[in-house]
Amino acid sequence: MPQNVSICIVFLGEFVKTINFIDQNPHFDLLLSLTHNKNLLVIMGKTVIVSGAGLSAESGIPTFRDKGGLWEKYDIDEVANFCTFYQNKPAVFRFFNEFRRLIKTIEPNHAHKRLALLQEEYGPERVLLVTQNVDDLLERAGCSNVLHVHGFLTEMQCLACGHVWDIGYEPCALYSTCPGCEADDIKPNVVLFNEVAPRYRDMYALVDGLQPDDCLVALGTSGTVVPVAELVSGRQCTKILCNLEPCYTMQEDVFDHRFYKPVTGAIDDIAVHIEDILEHKAATAENSI
Ligand SMILES: [Zn+2]
Repeated sequence: MPQNVSICIVFLGEFVKTINFIDQNPHFDLLLSLTHNKNLLVIMGKTVIVSGAGLSAESGIPTFRDKGGLWEKYDIDEVANFCTFYQNKPAVFRFFNEFRRLIKTIEPNHAHKRLALLQEEYGPERVLLVTQNVDDLLERAGCSNVLHVHGFLTEMQCLACGHVWDIGYEPCALYSTCPGCEADDIKPNVVLFNEVAPRYRDMYALVDGLQPDDCLVALGTSGTVVPVAELVSGRQCTKILCNLEPCYTMQEDVFDHRFYKPVTGAIDDIAVHIEDILEHKAATAENSI
């Protein structure tokens, strides 16, 4: 049994617990004795997939800086900047109301659906999805437990009490109030420029938990906002990159496998890598018992 591995315990087909495991663990012998129970399967290895705008671009959602449609009607530095949020609040609300209406008309693409299949196959506790996208295309494709580090477009948040609530694709009136505390100090639950991103802490914890038997996939992200390459540089896990083309903001030699093509064109090959890693690790764990 290798040292320092993350294992996932499944009992009678139900996920029980993930343990970061070292062989000096005082429960080592107990754990090994438990695994002799034929109903208990110990599975090793997980995949963390960090996605960015490139994942949803092929569904028709342009990146913020792209020209075209909704984005040309607004100055993005004005409507998505927390420093000027209160002075620009009417424009901010109009922009996000239109953005919400836009995503209602957009469908998940093959990559969103393939990620959902991976979760269905291995479970959301082994296929962990982190996205910088604020759309709901992963959820609509069937994914679960998605960590939206930049917020979620179909939600509003109260800056007075912290309450977050779902509004779907509906517009939010400027003087709406919080259903929790009735304050009117509300905003779309999307992290604006110059605003703290509280879910980064969860993302860092996931990256910190990567073990040699795990896999990290950077999917359609330039690394400009979240420096994925720097985060995983030096970690022993398998690292996979997919971007449309090389970019100076992503240190490519950090990655073991690189795909320079649209995400929908690369996702099937990436899924094969992920399946190989997850299934090989499962077999290794069973063989080692
Ligand atoms: Zn409130």
